[in-house]
Amino acid sequence: MIIDCHVHLPLSKTKGKFKDKKAKLLRDIERNGVDCAILIPDNLTGSNIGDLDTCLKLVENEEKLFLLGTIDVRKEGMRSISKLDFLFKKGKIKGIKIYPGHDPIYLTDKRLIPLYKLCIKYNLPIMIHTGGGKMKKAREYNDPKYIVKIAKKFPKIKIIISHYFEPNLEYCYNLTKNFMSIYYDTSGLADKDVVKESGLKTIKDVLIKIARKKPNNVLFGTDYACCSIKKHIKLISSLNISKEMKDKVFYKNSKRLFRLNL
Ligand SMILES: [Zn+2]
Repeated sequence: MIIDCHVHLPLSKTKGKFKDKKAKLLRDIERNGVDCAILIPDNLTGSNIGDLDTCLKLVENEEKLFLLGTIDVRKEGMRSISKLDFLFKKGKIKGIKIYPGHDPIYLTDKRLIPLYKLCIKYNLPIMIHTGGGKMKKAREYNDPKYIVKIAKKFPKIKIIISHYFEPNLEYCYNLTKNFMSIYYDTSGLADKDVVKESGLKTIKDVLIKIARKKPNNVLFGTDYACCSIKKHIKLISSLNISKEMKDKVFYKNSKRLFRLNL
């Protein structure tokens, strides 16, 4: 079984036609042997890859797709946070994704605290976009040094680091390795530019080290449709870790962390 915990709807030149985008996503996951996926909306209303309301409608009654909530706390207030609370309660979202770096906001910003508290309340994870290659300024906002601060301040929160703060995987590994509440998805790590910047050997070494140190904390994710599902499956399959550990990465860890009824 494979669960992809990090997918987006495909971008297209024409806005709208979200049913077609969903159909393409479902076709592509099926073609790659992925059983189900966690869809991540954009926190920008009217986005080409779907905002929260659009994605909510699309995943309704779709057993292969689950959803994360998202929000831009710089623009949205308590009403949106109450809405996320309601969606959690109804089981419509399985966590929250935030985009520090895309959005100029530090993880320690107090406007994010209600989100952390919500995730703790429902015992579901917060996913944090990290890294960003050459975008130095963007990476300043999502530096793992702040993630560690959040993990210390809120010991009950479960945090997923997306993209391993590429290209500084070793730095991210060293700072976060001893926090059992910090998880990692593998999204983007098989992308050609990320491989070029970070080095395939470093990517593999860090994934092997972390899978051995925290076997329950690594989750298969791809960042489809920006990235190839096939390449990410190949990357995980190529790691020198046991079959049992690979099964954890491919689906068992996501099933447990997102509390998916599969
Ligand atoms: Zn993504």
